[in-house]
Amino acid sequence: MTFSLELSPDLTHVRDWVHEFAADVVRPAAAEWDEREETPWPIIQEAAKVGLYSMDLFAEQVAEPSGLGLIVVFEEMFWGDAGIALAILGTGLAAASLAANGTPEQVGEWVPQMFGSIDEPEVAAFCSSEPGAGSDVGAILTRARYDEATDEWVLNGTKTWATNGGIANVHVVVASVHPELGTRGQASFIIPPATPGLSQGQKFLKHGIRASHTAEVVLEDVRIPGRLIVGGKEKFDERIAKVREGKKAAGQAAMATFERTRPTVGAMAVGVARAAYEYARDYACEREQFGRKIGDFQGVAFKLADMKARVDAARLLVYRAAWMARNGKEFTSAEGSMAKLVASETAVYVTDEAIQILGGNGYTREYPVERMHRDAKIFTIFEGTSEIQRLVMGRAITGLPIR
Ligand SMILES: Cc1cc2nc3c(=O)[nH]c(=O)nc-3n(C[C@H](O)[C@H](O)[C@H](O)COP(=O)(O)OP(=O)(O)OC[C@H]3O[C@@H](n4cnc5c(N)ncnc54)[C@H](O)[C@@H]3O)c2cc1C
Repeated sequence: MTFSLELSPDLTHVRDWVHEFAADVVRPAAAEWDEREETPWPIIQEAAKVGLYSMDLFAEQVAEPSGLGLIVVFEEMFWGDAGIALAILGTGLAAASLAANGTPEQVGEWVPQMFGSIDEPEVAAFCSSEPGAGSDVGAILTRARYDEATDEWVLNGTKTWATNGGIANVHVVVASVHPELGTRGQASFIIPPATPGLSQGQKFLKHGIRASHTAEVVLEDVRIPGRLIVGGKEKFDERIAKVREGKKAAGQAAMATFERTRPTVGAMAVGVARAAYEYARDYACEREQFGRKIGDFQGVAFKLADMKARVDAARLLVYRAAWMARNGKEFTSAEGSMAKLVASETAVYVTDEAIQILGGNGYTREYPVERMHRDAKIFTIFEGTSEIQRLVMGRAITGLPIR
């Protein structure tokens, strides 16, 4: 049996191609879009033109046999800039939720609309969180009621912190159909473009990833065709019947999918951490104090050694989890959560140390590590906070119902 961490020639080519785009197009635009705090449509368009923002690229990289296809793309893009990268790749998270749980017809009809065309790219949003339901997904209040007479779902509620919320062409919304069943009574719904009743609420001004749009999504008597429940109504009804009979079913499937997409978020964090590490390393090899390069002081060199070690360790955990997910290996110690946890805390640590190495310069907006530091913090919060990752891991490794 062979063991290799070498990327295939095809994947190496993809990595270098994405890196070039990140270095030539994304990085130079990062400060401007961070300051403007707006969705960088011209850059999304540029990404669409070169084929980097496309359904085909996502499909190809998801299918990559090592499992590292999307991981490599995400690390390079977030190395360029986290805010712009999320504006470009945030659609991937909505698309992944549909790809994982949708019927083939739903995937075929809606994923292309999430991306739009080369001339008119679109974005998509995945809306789960609510003001009263962040970590506690079971507390979701948004309701979906089935109207037999018209074969339609009627949705009401308020979603919050939705990436691309309100500006998306397609929204995937998690709602409760049978509130008494908690997460097991929930389903996701596809809201087509320009559906009456869906509107954007408050747009949030943020600490970091400011080029990525985050907003409330308000649903008031939103009516959608019956077929737009993700996975289909028949399957949902069967699942609910099983739950009511007390059989093990449902809910857990969605959580398992989540666990499997977490390495991708880890890869984003690794990209930001690596960018800050590289910037600090180069700076330390240039800046002189006391007549020598500051990198020549052990106090600085040791920081760089720790930063590099932690970036590489985080990447290895991300690679392992992604490889396991792609190759059908069961996560026994919540390896997906582990990768996301370590990578996101690494990004916070490394960007903090990078500012320290740049001293006063690091604290100003003249240097990119200040932005990277603000950007890094989101990774310990979204897609499950660090505490929630520890909870998932704790349960997996002890078998106890830790709260
Ligand atoms: C920029 C941004 C983009 C986002 N994008 C999306 C998106 O596209 N779609 C979407 O649905 N959501 C999105 N979110 C929401 C995000 O997933 C939530 O913020 C996150 O899940 C945490 O929920 P919360 O903010 O309500 O925090 P809370 O759940 O209120 O948690 C507050 C604190 O309590 C801790 N805590 C909570 N429960 C426990 C527990 N059981 N044990 C220990 N500690 C606990 C948390 O770890 C945290 O430190 C986004 C958020 C942000 C900021």
